[in-house]
Amino acid sequence: MNHPTGTYPASWYAATAHPAPERPPLQGEQQVDVGILGAGFTGLSTALELARAGYRVAVLDAERIGWGASGRNGGQVIFGWGCGESRLEGLLGEADARRMFDWSLEGVRLLRERIAEHAIDCDWRDGHAHVAIKPRHITELKSWQAQLAERYDYPLAWWDRERLRAELDSPRYIGALFDPGSGHLHPLNYALGLARAAEAAGVQIFERSPVIRLDRGAQPILHSRSGALRCRFVVLAGNALIEGIAPELHDKIMPVGTYVGATAPLGAETARRLIGNDMAVADINWALDYFRCSADHRLLFGGRASYSNLTPPNLRTVMRARMRRVFPTLADTDFEYLWGGVIDISRNRAPHWGRLTDTIYFAQGFSGHGVAASGLAGRILAEAIRGQNERLDVFARIRHRDFPGGRALRTPILVAAMAWFKLRDALW
Ligand SMILES: Cc1cc2nc3c(=O)[nH]c(=O)nc-3n(C[C@H](O)[C@H](O)[C@H](O)COP(=O)(O)OP(=O)(O)OC[C@H]3O[C@@H](n4cnc5c(N)ncnc54)[C@H](O)[C@@H]3O)c2cc1C
Repeated sequence: MNHPTGTYPASWYAATAHPAPERPPLQGEQQVDVGILGAGFTGLSTALELARAGYRVAVLDAERIGWGASGRNGGQVIFGWGCGESRLEGLLGEADARRMFDWSLEGVRLLRERIAEHAIDCDWRDGHAHVAIKPRHITELKSWQAQLAERYDYPLAWWDRERLRAELDSPRYIGALFDPGSGHLHPLNYALGLARAAEAAGVQIFERSPVIRLDRGAQPILHSRSGALRCRFVVLAGNALIEGIAPELHDKIMPVGTYVGATAPLGAETARRLIGNDMAVADINWALDYFRCSADHRLLFGGRASYSNLTPPNLRTVMRARMRRVFPTLADTDFEYLWGGVIDISRNRAPHWGRLTDTIYFAQGFSGHGVAASGLAGRILAEAIRGQNERLDVFARIRHRDFPGGRALRTPILVAAMAWFKLRDALW
């Protein structure tokens, strides 16, 4: 899945992206208030918030706007955090876990508001279901439902097998927790719309401008190949791709490859037969399947994790088999597009947001929950740069540890750990 620099990887998203002018690379030196590394959801959201508050902001991306996870993901806009509420209660106590939960809902709201305010054409659809494959999943989902209703004031509907089957034409699932407030979208078009909104607020975006060095200090400098940004503040929003610039960040996340396939258009009738209410769906296995239909009635089917930089050789076969397991009626259907991207998993799966120094801020570790949360990260980083630290300080209290084994060994160790989780998925 290699591609030349400056082009998007071939995906259904890239093929259906709204036309966007290529922004020129940074040339020469510039002085700005805030220099941002990364034009994904996190970097763009931070830029938009700060420009609206009157800051002079420039964003550098090594490739293109939304080139990373933001332009390739499953498009599922979900509340909560990758680690779940119970883990956060253990890490922060009940009161702050509750605030974090409410902020995650703010992330979903913020995304919807931005779509409306900036008229971003990105195929938003309401509705998301977490689905159960086996009795253990029913127990887990029902206990989560009770926790959300009783302690988080977020009641969700339980659907038994028959109710679910009325919306989802799959024999694989035996129940679901349905959330009408979550939903799905075309992520690359959302990123491009966010970039347009940021530029309208005064942000400069430079594409094909890889940051090759960060000078830390009172006046940090982001160096690219052909220029430099002298900044009062720097925001590192390079996510899983940031290697080399801030090793202490990279050591705290594991880049995990995951893949999405898009079938050819199935026609409106078939698409509505597969997913009647057009919701997004994800199971709750460790190595999960996640899927939805696109606005042009394809099935977008995601799953399959990998821990090396290499595309798995049997990827198409495995992805087709997984799709067939969910929708046996698509046994003969192939993918017209198949692409991958990298998720930034933190060791405890909690978000890793904070400051490296008084002038350098970061947000990473979205652990598969970044579409809504990365927009919120931008808002909270911007608040902190403006001197309102209260919310970022809650995130900064979450203790994060390096992945074991250092650079060389963390992948094999993780592969072994993941094999255990997959076995658990299969057996219980
Ligand atoms: C296949 C896939 C499916 C996913 N599905 C979902 C989902 O359904 N729901 C959900 O909530 N989350 C999902 N995620 C996760 C979600 O997409 C991310 O959490 C989110 O997009 C992170 O946004 P970001 O801006 O922090 O990072 P990114 O979008 O990765 O942006 C980082 C940017 O930094 C740039 N960069 C890196 N290093 C440098 C450098 N040295 N110099 C200049 N630029 C640099 C990169 O080019 C990139 O554009 C998925 C991720 C993947 C890969």
